[in-house]
Amino acid sequence: MREGLSAIDIDGSGGEGGGQILRTSLALSIITGRPIAIRNIRAGRAKPGLRRQHLACVIAAQDLCGATVHGAEVSSKYLEFTPGAIQREDLAIDIGTAGSTTLVVQTILVPALAAKRALRATVHGGTHNPMAPPFEFLDRVFLPHLHAMGARVTLTLDRHGFAGGGGGRGIERDVKERGQLTLTIEPGELRPIEVLDAGPITARSATAVLARLPTHVADRELIVVKESLGFAASECSIREVGHGGTGNVLLLEVERAQGRELVAGFGEQGTRAELVASRACADLAAFLAAEVPVGEHLADQLLLPLALAGGGAFRCAPLSRHATTNIETIGLFLDVPIRVEPAGDAVIVRVG
Ligand code: AMP
Repeated sequence: MREGLSAIDIDGSGGEGGGQILRTSLALSIITGRPIAIRNIRAGRAKPGLRRQHLACVIAAQDLCGATVHGAEVSSKYLEFTPGAIQREDLAIDIGTAGSTTLVVQTILVPALAAKRALRATVHGGTHNPMAPPFEFLDRVFLPHLHAMGARVTLTLDRHGFAGGGGGRGIERDVKERGQLTLTIEPGELRPIEVLDAGPITARSATAVLARLPTHVADRELIVVKESLGFAASECSIREVGHGGTGNVLLLEVERAQGRELVAGFGEQGTRAELVASRACADLAAFLAAEVPVGEHLADQLLLPLALAGGGAFRCAPLSRHATTNIETIGLFLDVPIRVEPAGDAVIVRVG
C-alpha cells in the first residue's frame, strides 16, 4: 500500500449496481494511487459478483500497475485493490471467453494516459457484445473526443469475436475463436473540450456485420433501415467475417461536425432480423429527435476523461443511471465538481 493513502470504501450496489462501478473505481484507483475495497460487486445484476469478463478487467488493471489484489475470483462480491505505479509497456489480456474486450479497454485506457511510458495492449475476447460498446463505438465515437482532448491513442480490430447466439452464452464459457483488439497509448495530459452543438448530419452509414450467418439476414436488416430511416443503398453495406463464432450486429452511424453516434442492434437466435433492425432504427431515431451531440452511452463514457482533464462540458438527453452512477463514483476519488443543468428537454453536463 502507498504510504499515507487510506483505502476508499465503495458500495458496488449503489446506483445502477453494475460493472461500471468496478471499472471506474479500478481506473481511478490506479490514477490517484488510492487503494480501494469494493463490496456488493454487481449486486444489481442477475448474476452478481465478478463474472469472467469483470475478472479480466481486474487482472488487466493489476497487470498494468503491479497492484496487490484480494478477492479476484469468479463470483466474488468483494475486492481489495492496492495499486502500484504503472511500469508496463506491453500487456496481453486473454478473457478466455467472449467477454467484452472493449470493457477491458474502458478499464485501462484512461489510467495508461496518466503513465510515464507508452503502452501497447492486446485483448482477446468478444469485440461485439450486447451490453458493451461495440469495437466501432470506441474507435469512431469515443476516441475522436479523446483525440480532441489531446490523447494519442489508437485502437485496431485485429479479429472479430461474437458472444454467440442465445443471449450471449459465450460471455461465460470458454470460446475458441476469440476476437482480438490492440490498443496503443502514448501518455499525455488531457485538455477540456466542449461538445454542445448537434449541428447538421454530414454522413451516415448502416453496416450489417455477419459471422457465419446467411447473407439474407443482413439483406433483411438493411431493407428495414432503408424503409424506416430513408438510408440510400450507397449508405448501406454488408461485412461478412469468417471468424469469431456465429454472430450478427447492425451498426448505424451518423456523423456531425462535433462527433459521431453509433447505435448497435445485436442479432439473437429466435429474434427476427427485421425486429433487430427496427429496434436499432428506433434507437437512432430517438437520438436524432433529441437533437443532442452526445448519446446515452457516450455520456457515461466521457465523464472520466473530462474529470481528469479537470473541465469540459457536453449536451445530451437526460442522463442514464450509468452516467449518474459514474458521476457518484468519480466523486469518491476526485475533487472535480460535475453539475447537470437542464437545457430544454436535454441537459448540459459541466465538469470543473
Ligand atoms: P455495465 O452495464 O455497468 O457493465 O456498463 C456497460 C458499459 O457499456 C457502459 O459504459 C455503457 O455505456 C456501455 N455500453 C453498453 N451498450 C453500449 C452500446 N450499444 N454502445 C456503446 N456503449 C455501450
